Amino acid sequence: MNQAISTHHDAEKSLILIIDDSVDNIRLLSGMLKGQGQIIFAMNGDAGIELARQRQPQLILLDVEMPDMDGYQVCRKLKADPETRSSAVIFVTAHASMSSEIEALEAGGLDFITKPLNPPVVRARVHTHLTLQRHTAALEHLANRDGLTGLYNRRYFDQQLEREFDRHKRQRLSLGIAFIDLDHFKAFNDGYGHAEGDTCLKTVAEAISTATRRPGEVAARYGGEEFVCVLPYTTIEGMQNYGEWICSRVRELNLVHGYSPTSSYVTISIGLTAEVPPESGTTQKMMANADRALYEAKSAGRNCSKIVVS
Ligand code: GH3
Ligand code: MG
Ligand code: MG
Ligand code: MG
Repeated sequence: MNQAISTHHDAEKSLILIIDDSVDNIRLLSGMLKGQGQIIFAMNGDAGIELARQRQPQLILLDVEMPDMDGYQVCRKLKADPETRSSAVIFVTAHASMSSEIEALEAGGLDFITKPLNPPVVRARVHTHLTLQRHTAALEHLANRDGLTGLYNRRYFDQQLEREFDRHKRQRLSLGIAFIDLDHFKAFNDGYGHAEGDTCLKTVAEAISTATRRPGEVAARYGGEEFVCVLPYTTIEGMQNYGEWICSRVRELNLVHGYSPTSSYVTISIGLTAEVPPESGTTQKMMANADRALYEAKSAGRNCSKIVVS
C-alpha cells in the first residue's frame, strides 16, 4: 500500500518533455507514458530548449530526425547550458546504427529508443531513467547542502562564487558578497545549551535564506555560526540595503538572548563587499574584503553591517 502511494507520488512529481516534429509521435509516446509523469512537449529544438529551461524536466525524449536543428544539436545545447544540463536525455530514432549511437552519446544523451516504438520497452527505459534521475538529484542535494540548516554548504558556495565571479568579470557587472556572523553566539550556547543553539541557528538560517531568493542568489552556511550570501548584479548601494534589511529581519525574529552584552535578542553582524571584478581580481580578495567588513561591524558594536571595497 505504502509502496503504491509513493510510486504514484513520484510519478506525479516527474516531468517528461517530448521534443518531436511529428504530432503523431508525440501522441504515441504520451499514450505509452501515461502514469509515469506529467508530459509536456515541443515540436522543434528551439521551443524544446526554451521549455527545458523554464520547466526543468527530469527526462527529455528527443527525436533525432527533425528539420532545422536535429536532435544531436539540441542535446549539445542542452548539455552546454547549466540551466538545462541536469535533465536526462533519451534519443528516439528510426536509424539505430553504431555511428549514430556514438554521436548520441558524445552529444550527452544517456540512452536510445528505436522506432517503431515498442510500448513495454519505452516504459521500462523511461522508468529506469526517472529512477536514476531521482537518485542523482537526492545525492546532489546531499552533497550541496548543510545538514543542520538545509542551506547550501561551503563547497557549493565556493563553486558558485567562482562561477559568478567569472561571469560578472566577463559581463562587467557588479557582484556582491555578504558575510554574516551571529553575535555573541558562544554565550548563547553556554547559557541555553547546544540544542537551543542549534534551533536558533536553524531559525536564523531560514530568515537569511527566505530573504535571499532572487534568481542566482545563493545563501550558504559557511561554517559554525557563519553564513555567506552571493548576490549577482548588485552594487555597493544594493548591498548596503540588503545588509540593513537582513539585519533587521533577524533582529525582528525576537529570539531572546539573555546572555548577550549588546542586545536582549539574537542579532547578526554583516560584512559586505561589491565590485565589478577587475582583471587582476580574485574571489579570495573579495572574501577578504567581506571578512574585514565583518570585523568592522563587530567593532562598531554588532547588529549592523559595514562595507569594504578594494
Ligand atoms: P561574536 O559576536 O564576536 O561573533 O561572538 P561569538 O560568541 O558569536 O563568536 P565565537 O567565534 O567566539 O563563538 C562562536 C560559537 O558558535 C562557538 C560555538 O559555541 C557556536 N557554534 C558554532 N557552530 C555551532 C553549531 O553547529 N551549533 C551550535 N549550537 N553552536 C555552534
Ligand atoms: Mg522527426
Ligand atoms: Mg564566528
Ligand atoms: Mg559570532
